[in-house]
Amino acid sequence: MAPLNEQLQAVRQQIDAADSELVQLLLRRRELVAQVGVIKRAAGQPLYVPEREQQMLQLRRQQAEQAGLSADLIEDVLRRVIRESYQQQQAADVHLQHKKIVVVGGEGALGGLFMRLFVSAGAAVYSLDRNDWDQAETLCADADLLLLAVPITLTVGIIEKLPALPKHCVIADLTSIKGQPLAAMLAKHSGPVVGLHPMFGPQQVTLAKQLVIVCHGRGREQYQWLLDSIVRWGAHIREISAAQHDQAMGFIQVLRHLSTFVYGAHLAEQQVDLAQLVSLSSPIYRLELMMVGRLFAQNPELYADIILSQPHTFTMMNDYLRSFETILSQLQAGNKAAFIAKFAEVKSYFGDFSQRFLEDSQRLLDTAGDAQQIN
Ligand code: NAD
Repeated sequence: MAPLNEQLQAVRQQIDAADSELVQLLLRRRELVAQVGVIKRAAGQPLYVPEREQQMLQLRRQQAEQAGLSADLIEDVLRRVIRESYQQQQAADVHLQHKKIVVVGGEGALGGLFMRLFVSAGAAVYSLDRNDWDQAETLCADADLLLLAVPITLTVGIIEKLPALPKHCVIADLTSIKGQPLAAMLAKHSGPVVGLHPMFGPQQVTLAKQLVIVCHGRGREQYQWLLDSIVRWGAHIREISAAQHDQAMGFIQVLRHLSTFVYGAHLAEQQVDLAQLVSLSSPIYRLELMMVGRLFAQNPELYADIILSQPHTFTMMNDYLRSFETILSQLQAGNKAAFIAKFAEVKSYFGDFSQRFLEDSQRLLDTAGDAQQIN
């Protein structure tokens, strides 16, 4: 019998050979995905089809279980592979060859992302940024879409100073608030108008599985092509009125950003040793710390504007502060029963969501544990 280290060497070679087969298989899969892309483009089908993805994962999970492999392992691997496929397919989806699109603020973060998407879809795309206003009339004269991606506080003023647009031209905006920009666009242009709020940042590479909120303005049939493109890129669309949107964003964005901001500001004030906090954090705490830290890697103007742009949210923030104070004073008084009673009340409010959130977040945490991005 060969010495142990020779045996080890031999088995390692077989593992290398198996990994190499995996690479070849992934290459083969990529070629097949490219073929699917061609067929989908010809049929005008979206990049992301949730039912197909679900069914595919389910079948492979069953196969893995029957073979004695972990179903979760196969799902993890496949999800990562699928994400790569979406990037590949999106890059090749040319379907807007005949459109001329002007992005106001196209040199900015989100405007830049949409410029790249439209360019990759084959449209003729132009940026109208702060130094380009002398060309505004020429650029807008035969545009099919004018998309606003400028700072929140400037949006209404910029809409008002736009040159006249062709009647068929769609005017849309990406602003994080919807009420005022939508009203201004409707007042400015008598053609098709739609408000969009992409619920993601400029660092997004593909739109697959992302969300774009749509607030209808006027002439939907004339801007349906724009919504179809967003769906083709893999995003979901949720339709809601501008007023309901702004109300909900008070909770989804303003309160969250404010809490995150205050937590980060407090760490800074106390000069807490971040490296030590990170080294003592397991994936869940690291993830929570990351959610705070990532805010400060972004645009302060945008966050200030999101918080300041909707006066009704100040009432919300004050209510939140009062909740914090009430619970804090109960705890300071040693009132454990009040804390437990509140806990039960909130648990019942969350209902089934509580368990679902626990399970979903566990999957994320397992992935975060694999990645170990910060050491
Ligand atoms: P940004 O500051 O990166 O970009 C704004 C762009 O507008 C810049 O290129 C700037 O030069 C340009 N601009 C400023 N004044 C102008 C003028 N007078 N005329 C033409 N262009 C002008 O901002 P951003 O983060 O890309 O945000 C743009 C919009 O997108 C905002 O309304 C924001 O609410 C919305 N949004 C942003 C995000 C995000 O994560 N960044 C997410 C969703 C929605």
